[in-house]
Amino acid sequence: MSDPQDVLAKVFGFSAYRDGQEEVVNAILQGRNTLAIMPTGGGKSMCFQLPALFLEGVTVVISPLIALMRDQVRALGEIGIAAGSLTSGNTEEETEEVFQALEENRLKLLYIAPERLANPGTSILLRKINTQLIAVDEAHCVSQWGHDFRPDYLRIGALRRDLDVPLAAFTATADQETRDEIIARLFEDTEPEVFLRGFDRPNLHLAFQPKNSPRQQLLKFVAARQGQSGIIYCATRNKTETLAQALRNEGHKALSYHAGMEGEDRRIAEARFQREDGLIVCATVAFGMGIDKPDIRWVAHADLPKSMEAYYQEIGRAGRDGAPADTLTLYGADDIRLRRAQIDEGLAPPERKAADHARLNALLGLAEARRCRRRVLLRYFGDKVDHCDNCDLCAAPPEVFDGTLAVRKALSAILRTGEFFGAGHLIDILRGKETDKIHARNHDQLPTFGVGKEYDQRQWQAIFRQMMGYDLIRPDMERHGAFRMTEAARPILRDEATIELRKDTIIKADNRRTKVRALVSEEDEPLLSALKAKRRALADAIQAPAYVVFPDSTLIAMATQKPVTLDDFAQLPGVGAVKLKRYGTAFLEIINGAAEEMHPSRRKLAGKPAGDLFDRLLEAQQGLARGETGTDKYLTCTNSTLSKIAKARPRDIETLAQVQGVGPQKAARFGPAFLEVLHAE
Ligand code: ADP
Ligand code: ZN
Repeated sequence: MSDPQDVLAKVFGFSAYRDGQEEVVNAILQGRNTLAIMPTGGGKSMCFQLPALFLEGVTVVISPLIALMRDQVRALGEIGIAAGSLTSGNTEEETEEVFQALEENRLKLLYIAPERLANPGTSILLRKINTQLIAVDEAHCVSQWGHDFRPDYLRIGALRRDLDVPLAAFTATADQETRDEIIARLFEDTEPEVFLRGFDRPNLHLAFQPKNSPRQQLLKFVAARQGQSGIIYCATRNKTETLAQALRNEGHKALSYHAGMEGEDRRIAEARFQREDGLIVCATVAFGMGIDKPDIRWVAHADLPKSMEAYYQEIGRAGRDGAPADTLTLYGADDIRLRRAQIDEGLAPPERKAADHARLNALLGLAEARRCRRRVLLRYFGDKVDHCDNCDLCAAPPEVFDGTLAVRKALSAILRTGEFFGAGHLIDILRGKETDKIHARNHDQLPTFGVGKEYDQRQWQAIFRQMMGYDLIRPDMERHGAFRMTEAARPILRDEATIELRKDTIIKADNRRTKVRALVSEEDEPLLSALKAKRRALADAIQAPAYVVFPDSTLIAMATQKPVTLDDFAQLPGVGAVKLKRYGTAFLEIINGAAEEMHPSRRKLAGKPAGDLFDRLLEAQQGLARGETGTDKYLTCTNSTLSKIAKARPRDIETLAQVQGVGPQKAARFGPAFLEVLHAE
């Protein structure tokens, strides 16, 4: 094997690196220590799998996820790469087989669970099998701050020292704190090369909607994606259950998932989601790390996530195969209040709370963004956007208005009532409503009373929500969520700054269209279904998830490009040499109909220039069977004749006529068209 790019194409079937992969692959191949931060679905595994093929010995992969390891090993096997895993999920025979393969120096990649590192024998084993590279997946598990902390990850540093080989760490968690912790714990005093690139996931459609009738908003979103696998993240366990039930009532296949469920039930849910097509899981954030399903077609948030990082990680689970995937995040004033409260009531030290508020602010800024969401998102992660056109705001830029006056009125209502009230009462004051509470406190005497009649109740709520979004006001938990003004609001109050607000979220929230993009055009829809059915059958036969056979993106390419020959098929994304051989014919049969199976004389030319020529001759012949006028006697050249012509490449009608099987009649009928093809060569 020569060059990594070549192997990428021939073995993995990918015509190009994804953004950021090449640099990491090259650094690893040069034996450097690396930390790569890439979004979920960015293609991290490729970054260590590809170098592994070039290393003499074994690449050891440490991953916290047993199901994921097993599937990756399966998927590698499918493309002809020898890999094994040692996890508690193995049967005895499987383990035996892995050791046997190691003994015979047959494995390129060995996946191990972190628990194994606690065993002192592991380091000896890894040395014995000639480990050349340690790859650490989900490297943020070494961070004690994160909720994914795995104590055994703390042993990786010692293992690296012990084996004295390069280490390549991967994570999707981008914040500086976690990054520093990973470096300190895994690399200790050696500085790794850090790669923070390619944060864009161009195939993800980004959209937010303020909650209006959230249940209806979600049902509508799901209904438009009938039969596609998706996740709905919910803030509470209870909601996962009620929402899953609501979806089932509408005829969808839906499960709930949360940390309060029995371990066994959770595993069943994970396994079903992994294997079944078109299942929806309503889950808390507990659902995530354990799933490695590249063909999740959408992710929705029933409630606002807790930070920008959490948001991107969660939506990032959709469309890891690169095919189009949709996301929708619902948010409302209550979410903001809840998230603020969670931070304020947590046990973290004050600096950390401030940082958490800032991360939440970033996400709120994205929710209330007025221009391209992708731009806002990537800027936060230190990346740039080249092109978007795949977010709700690019599709329909929101109308904005100068909200300075409205905000000042609201701030004034807050300040004049001693920062003691929430939105409900403040809006009553602004709208001049005569309630008992207003009278009891003489709030009808305030100069602010009734100054905001130009907006109705709902519009004011949207203004308050956006003010929270810009962190101009914060609910104070010690005062039952009463709003306090923040420093950020002072310039607006003093008339030193202006602020733009979005109109659409103020008017009516539900008239924005839920955009549905079909994966393929309507006429290709039946073909795509047929291809999926074939894939399911093939996957069932090897007891693997569907994507192990081919990811959605490959099926979509099949359905749209409709390859006719094995050569065409080889050009599809995700088709390498092994899968071409194993599955090419089966899928071509579906695409071209079993009857048009490739003729043996054509198959012999597959991959050769004459093959291409053959196809163009065949094409030229079509439509001439009854001559130019369509009324002549029926004539065609057989496949084997076409094959002979393609090989002989005659230069004029006479020589063409002499090719076996042609003769003067066919030469006259097809000659001009054929010679045109041959001359073009
Ligand atoms: P993650 O970064 O979340 O670990 P994976 O490594 O699972 O992501 O990759 C996600 C998907 O992207 C997989 O289906 C993989 O086959 C695909 N992929 C990886 N590299 C490329 C590439 N260069 N071109 C096209 N698809 C790729
Ligand atoms: Zn955009």
